[in-house]
Amino acid sequence: MDLDKVKTTSDLDVSGKRVFVRADLNVPVRDGKVSDATRLERVAPGLADLARRGAKVIVASHFGRPKGGPSAEHSLRPVADALAGFLGKPVAFATDCIGPEADKVVAALKPGDIAVLENLRFHKGEEGNDAEFGRKLAAHADIYVNDAFSAAHRAHASTVTMAKLLPAYAGPLLMEEIDALRSVLDRPRRPVAAVIGGAKVSTKIPVLTNLLEKVDVLIIGGGMANTFLLAQGVQVGKSLVEADFVGTAKEIMAKAAKRGCKIMLPLDAVVAQRFEAGAPSINVPISEVPADQMILDVGRESVVEYIAELSTCRTVLWNGPLGAFEIAPFGEGTFNVAGAVAELTAVGNMVSVAGGGDTVAALNMARDAEKFTYVSTAGGAFLEWLEGIELPGIKALIPA
Ligand code: AMP
Repeated sequence: MDLDKVKTTSDLDVSGKRVFVRADLNVPVRDGKVSDATRLERVAPGLADLARRGAKVIVASHFGRPKGGPSAEHSLRPVADALAGFLGKPVAFATDCIGPEADKVVAALKPGDIAVLENLRFHKGEEGNDAEFGRKLAAHADIYVNDAFSAAHRAHASTVTMAKLLPAYAGPLLMEEIDALRSVLDRPRRPVAAVIGGAKVSTKIPVLTNLLEKVDVLIIGGGMANTFLLAQGVQVGKSLVEADFVGTAKEIMAKAAKRGCKIMLPLDAVVAQRFEAGAPSINVPISEVPADQMILDVGRESVVEYIAELSTCRTVLWNGPLGAFEIAPFGEGTFNVAGAVAELTAVGNMVSVAGGGDTVAALNMARDAEKFTYVSTAGGAFLEWLEGIELPGIKALIPA
């Protein structure tokens, strides 16, 4: 997949053209109001730019997981209203994404106008990547723009079929995401480190296997580190472990050693009897985890070691928390290492890219997210990219 061939609309004359933008408007809505508008805030400038350049902008997205057709609960109307607020201008709304309703709204657009179409997933053809449904969507437009990286791992009608039917371009957010991921995985300033945490090793095997081929240092934390420790003969007490994956952990360590990728595991840990707020906890060397306790965070000595190693690196990729950060004090390891990466980035010594749902939540708790070079909010697509998978929605943007 030659990513250099992905084009943006920046040099394109879009004046008077109908531009279909596949966006990600899948934001949380509570009581009919958008409760976290981050995605809208981010997508709005790209839409406003197209409108300023005289395009007739048609915005479409999925929203939640509607089952068996339209429902008020899954309507994009409140989201379209909130988007209008970020655009500072009215937004037309079509109560269906295809058919006479949509045709009428699209036909009424004047250069500079913006319309939002109703939830793509109200039609089975979207997730089924149905050719006929894709053709009906494509009939609305002259140009197709994908600005939804978070949906690019899905081969759906609005991410793949449409890109084949119309001249296809990447939107600014999608391009930013591709550039950020390429800067850490394809052409990083070395040494490059990956910090990988999270609950289970079983969900991260493809990520670890792909990354150990690309990075110089792999820092493993979180519950998944316990399985690696067990593989090294460390007694981990009542900690979360996946005994079935001890063999896999050994294989990963062997592959890393062969390739010269340094794996760092916790040297000490914060342990407690229960995963509960207020449960008494202590910091112990990793060889002294009491049989009746569980590891809930990396320890202080590990944090010092990790930060020392990261200080020698020029690039870091982060996915997954180093401990059970949701409950104090088990977020300290994650917060302290994140703080160091944020500082190294702020002084210009490091390119740092983080992503994955819990990672973003942890970085926000640490108030460090904005100091990272790039933070991706695209859970599944981000992980699949780390696994080395070619995302169908990106591949579709590359001319054959
Ligand atoms: P993931 O979705 O795989 O990235 O995992 C994130 C979850 O891992 C968070 O909810 C953390 O609380 C949890 N986690 C991290 N470290 C540990 C640990 N040592 N024991 C149990 N859960 C953990």
